[in-house]
Amino acid sequence: MEKTNDSPPPLTRLSEDETLFRNSVLEFARREVQPLVRQMDDQAEMSRTLLDRLFELGIMGIEIPEIHGGAGARFFHSVLAVEALSSVDPSVGVLVDVQNTLVASALMRWGTDDLKKRYLPQLAARSVGAYALSEAGSGSDAFALTTRAFETDGGFRLTGRKLWITNANEADLFIVFATVDPDAGYKGITAFVVERGFNGFSVGRKEDKLGIRASSTCELLLEDCLVPRANVLGDVGRGYKVAIETLNEGRIGIGAQMIGLARGALDHAIAYTKERKQFGKAIADFQGVQFQLAHAATELEAARLLVYNAARLRDSGEPFLTSAAMCKLFAADAAEHISSLAVQLFGGYGYVKDYPVEKLYRDAKIGQIYEGTSNLQLQTIAKQILGA
Ligand SMILES: Cc1cc2nc3c(=O)[nH]c(=O)nc-3n(C[C@H](O)[C@H](O)[C@H](O)COP(=O)(O)OP(=O)(O)OC[C@H]3O[C@@H](n4cnc5c(N)ncnc54)[C@H](O)[C@@H]3O)c2cc1C
Repeated sequence: MEKTNDSPPPLTRLSEDETLFRNSVLEFARREVQPLVRQMDDQAEMSRTLLDRLFELGIMGIEIPEIHGGAGARFFHSVLAVEALSSVDPSVGVLVDVQNTLVASALMRWGTDDLKKRYLPQLAARSVGAYALSEAGSGSDAFALTTRAFETDGGFRLTGRKLWITNANEADLFIVFATVDPDAGYKGITAFVVERGFNGFSVGRKEDKLGIRASSTCELLLEDCLVPRANVLGDVGRGYKVAIETLNEGRIGIGAQMIGLARGALDHAIAYTKERKQFGKAIADFQGVQFQLAHAATELEAARLLVYNAARLRDSGEPFLTSAAMCKLFAADAAEHISSLAVQLFGGYGYVKDYPVEKLYRDAKIGQIYEGTSNLQLQTIAKQILGA
């Protein structure tokens, strides 16, 4: 068939600018992140030097407009960055993901001019952001949260505890969800921009996790924390909209983290099976191994298509709710299968920390849990297809 100029490009074809951007992040990840991965995982600590480099490279403010000091790029660039970083370290991937697809994105969409002027330049240049919705008693049922916001002179006093907050150890800025009226249900939920230095705010215990160990996950304590009225993000009582809309986008970012992780695991498996010899030949010469690798490559390609399609729909302003849920669901499962296969193909060497696949296998599990568990993604998809 004849190729016409107006045929849309293949989903995975990157523009010149996207290719350059992806390659530069990948090169950075291999050169500067790779040497730190083992130590950061063992010590459950994100390197401060690495954080500074992420800011220098403009990866912490990808979509933030240039007038506010950001790179002024598109959501798709964030997806490319998270994918590239996660192929080397999914902990660094999620740090960059939360910064861009949740925190900066919520501020850009819902912030007043004043909030944007005050906080976007900080986020682009030096401040890590965190997004605090979950609590001990409210995870999947996020709007059952109990952190209270009491109106007072000039603002609100926040009291409560948040749990599982990614980036909290490093963050200077927090988007915190609280209710101004528990009787109003989700219509009481309100989003606030909280600075680390606000009186009554503190970061509590850091979790000791199975995977993505260098990514901090902490409790937040709010004890009569005074937040100025100007720091309400969106309208009072409309925080549920802020949460729903940002998390829909955030899910695509987690999809990107998972395809990056799966790519990393598959690359390691391919390289290893070509080297490792048993029965007098490379194990990649056995058809049984080849078919397993072929399956994994197909699953990864399908996951990448779903993630890229959801991201491109988002950038073109089209509805992407179902696509985002599907891409996260599928990519998280793909990452789990592919990292498990990588461990399998390394044999005993896959089970120890001297080789990178053991870590990727541990890191993969989180994809089915945060930013909406897989069951919650299925619920969203079912609701859409059934029109319920
Ligand atoms: C490492 C890590 C980082 C995180 N980062 C953040 C963050 O930065 N900010 C933040 O706000 N939160 C964060 N979270 C919280 C995360 O989003 C929640 O853990 C997640 O939403 C699940 O909530 P839960 O843990 O309370 O589990 P629950 O909601 O109690 O779910 C337990 C199980 O029940 C299932 N289930 C629940 N309801 C239903 C239903 N209606 N139908 C079918 N199955 C159901 C779930 O699928 C799951 O398998 C993080 C969590 C972790 C572990």
